[in-house]
Amino acid sequence: MSSSATDDNPTGSVKRVAVIGAGVSGLAAAYKLKSHGVDVTVFEAEGRAGGRLRSVSRDGLIWDEGANTMTETEIEVKGLIDALGLQEKQQFVPTNPVALLKSKLLSAQSKIQVIFEPFLWKRSVSSNVCDENSEESVGGFFQRHFGKEVVDYLIDPFVGGTSATDPESLSMRHFFPELWNLEKRFGSVIAGAMQSKFFDKKEKTGENKTALKKNKHKRGSFSFQGGMQTLTDTLCKELGKENLKLNSKVLTLGYGHDESSSSPNWSITCVSNQSTQDIDAVIMTAPLCNLKDIKITKRRIPYPLSFLPEISYVPISIMVTAFRKENVKRPLEGFGVLVPSKERQNGLKTLGTLFSSMMFPDRAPSDFYLYTTFVGGTQNRELAQASTDELQKIVTSDLRKLLGAKGEPTFVNHIYWSKGFPLYGRNYGSVLEAIDKMEKDLPGFFIAGNHKGGLSVGKAISSGWQAADLVISYLNSASDKSA
Ligand code: FAD
Repeated sequence: MSSSATDDNPTGSVKRVAVIGAGVSGLAAAYKLKSHGVDVTVFEAEGRAGGRLRSVSRDGLIWDEGANTMTETEIEVKGLIDALGLQEKQQFVPTNPVALLKSKLLSAQSKIQVIFEPFLWKRSVSSNVCDENSEESVGGFFQRHFGKEVVDYLIDPFVGGTSATDPESLSMRHFFPELWNLEKRFGSVIAGAMQSKFFDKKEKTGENKTALKKNKHKRGSFSFQGGMQTLTDTLCKELGKENLKLNSKVLTLGYGHDESSSSPNWSITCVSNQSTQDIDAVIMTAPLCNLKDIKITKRRIPYPLSFLPEISYVPISIMVTAFRKENVKRPLEGFGVLVPSKERQNGLKTLGTLFSSMMFPDRAPSDFYLYTTFVGGTQNRELAQASTDELQKIVTSDLRKLLGAKGEPTFVNHIYWSKGFPLYGRNYGSVLEAIDKMEKDLPGFFIAGNHKGGLSVGKAISSGWQAADLVISYLNSASDKSA
C-alpha cells in the first residue's frame, strides 16, 4: 500500500482501520477508505461476505434470500455503482406511480383525499401537530394526511413488504425521516416532496452541467444480473482478499491500550487470529445485538454496554417457489403483490409475493415462473418460524387464491431470518442516543449499518460511506495533533 502524502492523508503515514461486518454497509465503508489510501481490514464472522445480500444460482434459477431490490435514492449509491462500473449489470423494475390513481385499490373518496392533501395540509396546521419529540406511529401519520383506507391498503402492505412490520409498530420519525421532515417544513407531504425537488434542482443549476448530468439519479427499484449479491461480490473483488477476513468474528476491542503511544489507538482480536492487532479507528457495522457479545475496554478498564437498550427484531421467512407456466391460470403482470393485513380475514396468510421472474426474466427458464414470498413479521412472529412443509402449504394456498396456481411448486427453497430487521419502534430514539454515547465515549469508533439511519440497502450504503468520511477526518485531525 502506498504511503505517499495525499490531501486526505497529509502526513503520508498509512493509517489502519478495522471494519467489523462484511455486509453492504461495511464493504462500502471499506471500499471508500481503501480508495483514500487507508489500510483497511474487514472482519466478517461468517464464511461469506454480503450479510443480508445473498443470491443463489441453481438449476437454472437465480434467487435472492435477503434483499431483492434497491434504489438510487441516496446519492452515495449512484456514486458507488458508477465507481464499480456496475451500470451495465443493473436490471430496473418498471414502475408507474400514476397507475395508483387509476387502479381500483382505493375508493373515489380516498383518491380525492390523496389529490387534495396539499390543500388540506398547510404549514401552520402541521406545526401544531408535529412536535420534534412526538412519537407518532407511521399509521397515525398517514391516516392524518390521507385517511384510513390509504393506511390499510397502501401503507400497511408497503411496510409489511419492505420491513415485515405494521404501521402501528413503527415510529414515523425514525422509519420515514424524510417525510417526517417534509411535514415539518411544508405541512403537506405531497406539496413538500414537489417543492423540495424543485429547490434541489434550483440549487443545482449553479453547478457544472456535466456534474449535474452525472449526479442525476433514477428513482426506480433495481437489482443486478446475478442478483443483489453481485454488488457485494464486486466490492469484495475491489477490496482484495488480503483486506477481507472471513470466519473472523471479532471478540475484543480495546481503546487506548498502549499508554506510551502519543496518538489514540485501538486493538482488536478475532476468532481466527487471537493475537492482538493494532489499528487507528474502527467502523462497527455488525448488528447491535452482536455488538453486545464483543468485550470492549477503554484504557484497559471494561466498558460495559449495559446502557444499550434491548432492540426488538422482526423475524421473517422467505419462500422461493417455481411453477410451470401452464400451471398458473392468472399470472399477473408487475413486480408482485403485497397483502394488506385486512385481507388476512379472507384467508391469506403471507405478507406478499414478488414475481421475481416477471421483474427479471433471466431468473428462471422461459417455461417457469419464479416467486419470492414473505411470511411472518411483527404481526405473525410464530408463522415466520414454521417448518418448510407448513410454509409450503401456506404459500401454495395463497398463490392459488391470488394467481390461480395449480398443484405443488416444482421447486421450493426456504430461508428463515430470526432477526431479519431491527424494529424502528416508537422508542428507537433511545437506541440512537446509545449509539451517540458510544461514539462520544470511544474516540475513533463509528457505527454504521441498518441500525442507524434506515433499513434499506441504499441507506446502509450511505451510512457506511458517511462513516468512512468521519474516519478520514478523524485520522486527519489525529495526524495534525501528533504533528
Ligand atoms: P448486514 O448485512 O446484517 O451485515 C452485518 C454483518 O456483520 C454480517 O455479515 C454479520 O455476519 C457480521 N457480523 C456480526 N457480528 C460480527 C462480529 N462479531 N464480527 C464480525 N462480523 C460480524 N433492503 C432493501 O433496500 N430492499 C429489499 O428488497 C430488502 N429486502 C430485505 C429482505 C430481507 C429478508 C432482509 C433480512 C432484509 C432486506 N432488506 C432490504 C434490508 C437490507 O438488506 C439490509 O438492511 C442491509 O443489507 C443491511 O446491511 P448491513 O451492512 O447494515 O448489515
